[in-house]
Amino acid sequence: VPPVPRQASVLHRAPVVLPIGAEPIRDGGVLVDGQRIGWVGPAARYDGPTVATQDWPGLLLPGLVNAHAHLQYTAYADMYAPDVDFFAWIARFPVRNRDTPEPAWAESARAGVAELLRTGTTCVADITVQRAAIEAVADAGLAGVSYVEVVGADAASWPDHRARLLATLSTADGRRAVGVSPHAPYTLSSQVFGDCVALARERRLRLHPHVAESSYETEFVAAGTGAFAEANRRWGLDMELMRKPGRQSPVGYVDGLAGLGPDVHVAHGVRVSAVDRARLRERGTVVALCARSNATLGCGAPPVAAYRAEGNAVAVGTDSRASVPSLDLLAELGLLREIALGQGSPEAGLDRWLVEAATVGGARAMGLTDVGVLTPGARADLAAFDVPLDGDPYVALVRYGAGRCLGTVVAGRQARQAGAGMGG
Ligand SMILES: [Zn+2]
Repeated sequence: VPPVPRQASVLHRAPVVLPIGAEPIRDGGVLVDGQRIGWVGPAARYDGPTVATQDWPGLLLPGLVNAHAHLQYTAYADMYAPDVDFFAWIARFPVRNRDTPEPAWAESARAGVAELLRTGTTCVADITVQRAAIEAVADAGLAGVSYVEVVGADAASWPDHRARLLATLSTADGRRAVGVSPHAPYTLSSQVFGDCVALARERRLRLHPHVAESSYETEFVAAGTGAFAEANRRWGLDMELMRKPGRQSPVGYVDGLAGLGPDVHVAHGVRVSAVDRARLRERGTVVALCARSNATLGCGAPPVAAYRAEGNAVAVGTDSRASVPSLDLLAELGLLREIALGQGSPEAGLDRWLVEAATVGGARAMGLTDVGVLTPGARADLAAFDVPLDGDPYVALVRYGAGRCLGTVVAGRQARQAGAGMGG
């Protein structure tokens, strides 16, 4: 047993502790020492000083990592409807955003944070253009990165967008890590996309664009035509791809703009070939899968089985409430499992792979090494779930975990609790 820290600590105990990256522990204990984890092991073997204890009547694991969200759009839940067309859906945002009053953004983001905590997520890659959203996530103390989005820009409008980007990046003032999200290949001119990448690299900020989501995007990048070409013409945006078609895939195009790398994770990765997947692996770029959003918007299913078989690094995101019925990350795992099996992925080990994607996979997407695992020195972010405890805990979590979160701990502090008592 490793040495135990001396300061006041809380020993969280559970019938099963799932550390991730190590075997499940029956009657496990996780010592929370301030904002960090001090010790993990069978609770009975803890022989440090007497500390407060907390017993969770369920499965205890690291808080989940949502690798793609837009918390500012939580209040747009009325836009969610099954089977809408991606282009028709996304075209509604500019007007809706313009008509949203300033105070509503903070309220919307706070509602998103509350839903994350209610469902076991303690770390988030949140895309936003609103300072209020960065502040809401920082106030809650969630781990992760807020990516400031640049959308609808060409060379002429870039100076204005760039100034807004820089101002918004300074919001967190050290309270929250920030990054840059060049929105997507079809809403930014090539030059602007490339400049966003360069600006992020100069400032050592991480990047998180949407890539290879819809067939509209594939067409726009390859041929410079289709619904997005018409929309860009309407919006008066001068796009290089419309003058000189890219004749390549979205992944290839973004790579050509230096937009892939170990400091980047992309959202969606639905419309990808074997060559694209190999490119993502070569560049060390994680893909945040958002399967429920893809299904809602008619974008098809991501190639989950191929990503798994070929060894791509993947994470899991929800996208926003405008395209999914909840921000419950475990609800994503149920659908990803179904997709993987339907695509011929072997069932053995699948649940573990999915749970790892929703924890360490998300951490890796954001370059974080101290979240998504229960190990001494990691952030004390925990989530407990009321799932059957007699079988494989990964299977139980994927099959029964959605909607069954008992409580979460964020940086050592209890953020939400239902049905667990404080002892000690
Ligand atoms: Zn998104």
